[in-house]
Amino acid sequence: MNAEPSVCIVGSMNMDLTVTTDKVPQQGETVMGNEFFANPGGKGANQATAAARMGANVHFIGAVGDDVFGQTLLANMKNEQIRTEGIDTIAETSTGTATIILSDQDNRIIVAPGANNLVTPELVKRHRDLIAGSDIVLLQLEVPMETIVAVVEAAAEIGVPVILNPAPYQKLPESVLKGCAWLTPNELEAAAFAEDPLYETIREKLIITRGASGASFTENGRERHVAGYDMSVMDTTGAGDTFNGALAAELARGTAPDEAIRTANAAAALSVTKVGAQGGMPEKQAVEAFLQ
Ligand code: ATP
Repeated sequence: MNAEPSVCIVGSMNMDLTVTTDKVPQQGETVMGNEFFANPGGKGANQATAAARMGANVHFIGAVGDDVFGQTLLANMKNEQIRTEGIDTIAETSTGTATIILSDQDNRIIVAPGANNLVTPELVKRHRDLIAGSDIVLLQLEVPMETIVAVVEAAAEIGVPVILNPAPYQKLPESVLKGCAWLTPNELEAAAFAEDPLYETIREKLIITRGASGASFTENGRERHVAGYDMSVMDTTGAGDTFNGALAAELARGTAPDEAIRTANAAAALSVTKVGAQGGMPEKQAVEAFLQ
């Protein structure tokens, strides 16, 4: 058991800009909305927050622009005790944003990746010591694929296992599928993996999240289900990110996969009882109390 598990995340940081409205504007139309919120987001930053709240020592490798959103996101990470030495502030670039139009009928989102597209293999190389100093690396797919390839290769050279949350889904190169220790698709992403010619090779690496019913994985050729928890749901945004951050913290601690998944299910279940992605993520003590 590792008392202070350390997780290195290479990923995205966004400012989520949400406006609520009764009426979604048509082409060429302007409408009056209701409320506006600016919240830190991006899968990388969300999962880093979940891992840090679960007691992991988290290092982040990423990038922001030289604007006020970037400064706010950096301050938010520091506030969450996430180490930010691996985050570059890039001149004449905007920080990543997600602009969200939220109405009763649906939501519409435009992501402008900005500095997240500049999380390059070269940037990762400069911060390679952060990967070397961690127990586990956690990745998502909101930074360029060439960077994912480079991180998986560097982690393999160093001997640090990689968890890859394949979201938003893209087809993965063979070196990534083979190089990761764990892949954490949701059911839709898992269905896409099932079509992959390498499916049999990666089957025992899959931890498939299955919404309220929990998650499953395959051990010695047998599928095992780890049950979820029945909660009164407020907002499921960020459930997947909470699961991944908590899972990484637990696996970094040396916890066995079934037990790590049980804890990740509990953390994600608690997150759906509160509003917001990062806002709903529980602290380790709350998860332990829930599991008693
Ligand atoms: P999202 O995109 O909504 O963040 P996702 O599609 O990546 O989620 P899910 O499989 O829906 O992933 O959920 C991830 C984990 O969150 C599940 O494995 C489960 O532990 C937990 N979870 C999700 N929804 C619920 C729910 N309604 N009640 C309890 N736990 C939930």
